[in-house]
Amino acid sequence: MTSESIDKNRGFIDVQRQGIPERDAAVRIGDYRQIYRAEDEAELRQQGARCMDCGVPFCQSDAGCPIDNLIPEWNDLVFQGRWREAYERLARTNNFPEWTGLICPAPCEDACVLGITSPPVTIKRIERAIIERAFDEGWVVATPPPVRTGKKVAIVGSGPAGLTAADQLNRAGHSVTVFERDDRIGGLLMYGIPNPKLEKSLVDRRIDLLAAEGIEFRVNLDVGTDVDGAELRRDYDAILLACGALQARDLPIPGRELAGVHRAMEYLHGVTKSLLDSSFEDRRFIDAHDKQVIIIGGGDTGADCIATALRQGCRSLLNITRREHEPEERDNRHPWPGDPGTFAMDYSHVEGEAVFGRDPREYGILPLEFVGEDGRVTGVKIERLRWEEGGVAAPRMVRTGDVTTLPADLVFLSIGFVGHDTPKIVEQLGVRTDAGLVPAQWSRFVTSDPQVFVAGDMRRGASLIVWAMAEGRGAAREIDRLLMGSTKLKAPMPHPIEPTGILS
Ligand SMILES: Cc1cc2nc3c(=O)[nH]c(=O)nc-3n(C[C@H](O)[C@H](O)[C@H](O)COP(=O)(O)OP(=O)(O)OC[C@H]3O[C@@H](n4cnc5c(N)ncnc54)[C@H](O)[C@@H]3O)c2cc1C
Ligand code: SF4
Repeated sequence: MTSESIDKNRGFIDVQRQGIPERDAAVRIGDYRQIYRAEDEAELRQQGARCMDCGVPFCQSDAGCPIDNLIPEWNDLVFQGRWREAYERLARTNNFPEWTGLICPAPCEDACVLGITSPPVTIKRIERAIIERAFDEGWVVATPPPVRTGKKVAIVGSGPAGLTAADQLNRAGHSVTVFERDDRIGGLLMYGIPNPKLEKSLVDRRIDLLAAEGIEFRVNLDVGTDVDGAELRRDYDAILLACGALQARDLPIPGRELAGVHRAMEYLHGVTKSLLDSSFEDRRFIDAHDKQVIIIGGGDTGADCIATALRQGCRSLLNITRREHEPEERDNRHPWPGDPGTFAMDYSHVEGEAVFGRDPREYGILPLEFVGEDGRVTGVKIERLRWEEGGVAAPRMVRTGDVTTLPADLVFLSIGFVGHDTPKIVEQLGVRTDAGLVPAQWSRFVTSDPQVFVAGDMRRGASLIVWAMAEGRGAAREIDRLLMGSTKLKAPMPHPIEPTGILS
């Protein structure tokens, strides 16, 4: 079937969903290159035909895309082969579609109306194809602002929140300096998410453009230690804190001090840095080669540890979590159009199955103690849990007394983040904090200090890159309003119900 022969009114019936094409799992674990294969234009245009151009497009609702991407418009333009216009629509709302198109979990697809009865439109795949086509065609070029306002903004932290705000404020003509304590720009895009999931050349490609447009990047500077809050106040008209929520949750059970028990970020950061610095020649990373590896906790971080340990050639691999196994279908606790909460295989679970013949995840396991010999971990003592149905309430976890020790030479803790890890700058600026986060006025992103703004994980808690970008756009709009008295910068509609990070 060619796209020309498709009746768009029936595309959602006649065309089956095809996700992003990936390289064979057994092959790709032999390298650190990206897991995706090249795209096929004809197939992409057919996928665009599956979009029903809904009168009320839930993909753009509160439950859908947090940056209000104009999804049905660019789906249709791709179906028609009008790629340049599709790119222009996409660039209106999304500063960095090459990142969201690869690693966003796509709440838009969970909310897609077609998803009620069939597999949803492959929105993320189309988004990524549009931006990669735009780069290939040379449509994405540095465009410095024609006029400078003379106002200066300091942004602390170069993750997706800081970079999005920097891009927006620079476009508005302000002089923007981004401070980063790491040696490379990108935040978790650079040193959290591994190369196979997001190749670092795709981060650098965009940073080079932003620098060419006039944004100043200053690396290896810990703000609060190497530069202090008073200096920022003196030298800049506004300050944006975008430092993430990088304080990892710990697991203070007996044996935590044993060698071989690490926080996941120590592992992931070291492996990517060594890859980029020296293609692993420097050996400055934790090596899971021939080791029995246990990862405690799931989520993106756990999945990324699995992918990394597999590439290093671990001897065995287990990813344990206290949680119950997810259902195959949406249940009453996960109504459409929100997160379906269903069982899904991430890229590394597929890879684990290819290597060991089974998904490395095991559910309903409570870690009790790290056991060891001569100061090194040799295992994790665990208790198996059972789940009791709670009627309308969530099921209850029940201990069973079934205790055993799982062998381990390396353990990675991937049990979430509790807040930011940079108290000095927060204290120096004297802004209010709340439970490890820096709250702001709802939809204004301004902290308890009118010159200081906050965006991303540092305000809302550990979240997603698309939310960090949404907040970066929102904070930029409010900073521009402060500096100029009014603003033309666009930002997504703020979410009506914010769970955290609001100044009371
Ligand atoms: C392993 C892992 C995998 C993930 N995978 C995904 C995924 O697949 N999809 C997804 O959507 N989300 C994913 N996430 C979540 C996502 O990466 C974050 O929500 C997002 O990066 C938050 O952006 P941010 O800009 O707020 O902060 P960050 O990306 O955390 O950036 C904050 C930056 O601030 C810098 N900084 C902090 N304090 C200072 C200081 N005092 N001075 C100078 N610099 C400072 C830090 O070094 C860091 O570079 C993942 C997270 C992790 C940990
Ligand atoms: S909800 Fe799905 S089908 Fe409807 S407009 Fe959005 S992407 Fe297209």
